[in-house]
Amino acid sequence: MQIILFGAPGVGKGTQAKYLAEKFKINHISTGDILREAVKNQSALGLKVKEITSRGELVPDNIMAGLIKETLFSEKNKNGFILDGYPRTIDQAKLLEQILSELPNKNIYFIHLIADADVIVERLTNRRVCSVCGTIVNLNLISKKNECPNCKSADSFIKRKDDEESVIRHRLSVYENTTFQVLEFYRNKVNIIEVNGTDQIESVKENILAAIKN
Ligand code: AMP
Repeated sequence: MQIILFGAPGVGKGTQAKYLAEKFKINHISTGDILREAVKNQSALGLKVKEITSRGELVPDNIMAGLIKETLFSEKNKNGFILDGYPRTIDQAKLLEQILSELPNKNIYFIHLIADADVIVERLTNRRVCSVCGTIVNLNLISKKNECPNCKSADSFIKRKDDEESVIRHRLSVYENTTFQVLEFYRNKVNIIEVNGTDQIESVKENILAAIKN
């Protein structure tokens, strides 16, 4: 099973991808997480992309191509994967099509999570990530504002640099002007599952599962 989770930044792809990965026992591949890890480790890739990602720009396709080929052809992804944050350009979509055509067992699902820009800005400005266990929370939706609801660590929340409002607005414009075209690319190729990403997390999960079963 190969799932492509598509949607604007902040629509909830990461949260849903983690859940689906566990449910279907497939690997969650977040290109954003891979890049953040590279930046944190100051690897050659990290040094190249640090400025680009902090401004909310897209990392160039040639850099993403190396990263995605290496990831998707690795042994641990041979039974399937869930892609979160890739593809974001038509060139990336074309490369993915080529990679998928080489995979022996194909069962591709394309899920589009939908949300209004206003909801996304509200969500991202209040988004925090637990630095201990990686859980993503919205500060408005948890009762204890400085305790991770998953691992109970205190004061472990960090705000991503690109979750500042000006950067969020830029990321949304990149999504609308560039990434959104990817949806059209897939329109005649796969059955697109559309799910409202602004519902409660549990309802979004259920709606995705129901659509996959159908
Ligand atoms: P995300 O966590 O998916 O929102 O990604 C964070 C940042 O990483 C994005 O704003 C981009 O700068 C970069 N990035 C992640 N995935 C890609 C991609 N497929 N193509 C280009 N840049 C990406």
